[in-house]
Amino acid sequence: MPCPSCGKPTNVTDKRNEGFRIKRRRKCSICQMRFVTYEYLDSTKFKIVKKNGDIEKYSRDKLKRGILMAVYKRGIDEHMVNDIVDVIEVEIFTRKNHALTTSVLGSLVLTQLRKIDIVAFIRFASVYENYTSIEQFIYKINNL
Ligand SMILES: [Zn+2]
Repeated sequence: MPCPSCGKPTNVTDKRNEGFRIKRRRKCSICQMRFVTYEYLDSTKFKIVKKNGDIEKYSRDKLKRGILMAVYKRGIDEHMVNDIVDVIEVEIFTRKNHALTTSVLGSLVLTQLRKIDIVAFIRFASVYENYTSIEQFIYKINNL
């Protein structure tokens, strides 16, 4: 990568894999300018397999909207929701399998929500999973 200041080639001084992105510290060998670059995983290759078998592209916005609905009026701000989505993305983007079922994705969200707010957790669970009985729901909670 050329130096943004003088255009000469730069050296990577540090490389860190942060799961969903790779961070590189770079230094120009000519003007000594230091800067950082991020390389993000391409989320467009991740697919979600729905219960009826339909496949759609993974969408961070859609996932975030679902969580925002669950945390509505629970004192959890968008910043916290972004953090939850980041944690989930690290989990799914580092998988070898690029197709994920809605129930696996739902479980990942539930695992995070359970740590922060039980009401949001129950709301999300009742929307995401089609429970036909309270026993089924309790079984699910106990097995997370
Ligand atoms: Zn330079």
